[in-house]
Amino acid sequence: MSKTVIDPFQPDQIQRLVAEFGSPLLIIDCERVRTQYRKLHRALPGVDLHYALKPLPHAAVVQTVVALGGWLDLATTGEVHLARSLNIDAERCIHTHPIKRDIDIRNALDYGVRTFVADNPDEVRKFKPYADRARLLLRVSFRSPGAVVDLSRKFGCDPEDAVQLARLAAKLGIDVQGFSFHVGSQAADALKHVEAIEVCTRLLAAARREKLGTLDTLDIGGGFPIEYTQHVVDIGRFCAPIRKVLAALPKRVRVIAEPGRYIAGPSAIGVASVMGRAKREGHWWYYLDDGMYGSYSGQLYDHARYPVESLRRGEPLRPSVLAGPTCDSIDVIAENLMLPELRQGDLIVGRAMGAYTWASASEFNFFPKATVVAVNQA
Ligand SMILES: *Cc1c(COP(=O)(O)O)cnc(C)c1O
Repeated sequence: MSKTVIDPFQPDQIQRLVAEFGSPLLIIDCERVRTQYRKLHRALPGVDLHYALKPLPHAAVVQTVVALGGWLDLATTGEVHLARSLNIDAERCIHTHPIKRDIDIRNALDYGVRTFVADNPDEVRKFKPYADRARLLLRVSFRSPGAVVDLSRKFGCDPEDAVQLARLAAKLGIDVQGFSFHVGSQAADALKHVEAIEVCTRLLAAARREKLGTLDTLDIGGGFPIEYTQHVVDIGRFCAPIRKVLAALPKRVRVIAEPGRYIAGPSAIGVASVMGRAKREGHWWYYLDDGMYGSYSGQLYDHARYPVESLRRGEPLRPSVLAGPTCDSIDVIAENLMLPELRQGDLIVGRAMGAYTWASASEFNFFPKATVVAVNQA
């Protein structure tokens, strides 16, 4: 039985959803989640995709990914609780935060998660009491100044220290399943992935020679880029060099990835309404019910620029300012945006707003976070 798929990103559907659920809204299209998952799966054949919940920890996305045969990357106790509340088989989940409290480890173990990440001796020792149930991926650092968000500064051990870390785990009786890395989010190209895969392949071989664990897994992290206001290469082309180095891996090595942004980003739009307007120094300022402290927080934390447009069409277009609702002056979404003259209640749509948007929103000034609606669920 096939349900009709509607496109909730079309103006008439956006208006219908705002009429029903109010504003501000974050509209998730599960059909686009499927499309993104399938595109990445085709670009990385044979790689198990663990959706990283962090950019959009929402049940609809999680369930859509799992229904496609996908896997999950959990990093916090809150994410463990979300997966658990959805009755997702814990075998499909790994826990990848390199720094955890004992209670976080126990919460994940209790759910049934078996694979964890560590990147330093103290963290490896935390698993000694759980050596019978937990196994480790050791996270290696590869600095990536080219990525918009360099995730190898805060986490990961030096490649030169990785085998020593594996020796410590082996000495404590903890199985080392393999190595992981995350080159940074919204990577400009796949060169860092390639370098990291090559180094980790050598680390796997070196640790295997010393029989330091199962050593049959390579986790290539996330970082797969999406289009915002700037063009990026298509994912098939982006992944071509990755496919090439992966082909040289021994067949017994299982390769996994942790895509977050690539799955979530294009799968949601933000919809906000004009609350009021004022003409200042000859320009219209439009004050929306969502802003930098809400879904547009990604413009600050994630350094993203979302393509924004008005649903109202008309002429003339004039440089205008879109501001958020709070009383803070930093709460400005866009300046010099070419817009027709807007009125109270008009809708503003931000595209590619699924990743690191609603997830990092606050309720500063008591403006509630956007309501989330998921369309085209299984
Ligand atoms: C944030 C994060 C991801 C997701 O990264 P994207 O660049 O959004 O794909 C994956 N793994 C870990 C460990 C992360 O911290």
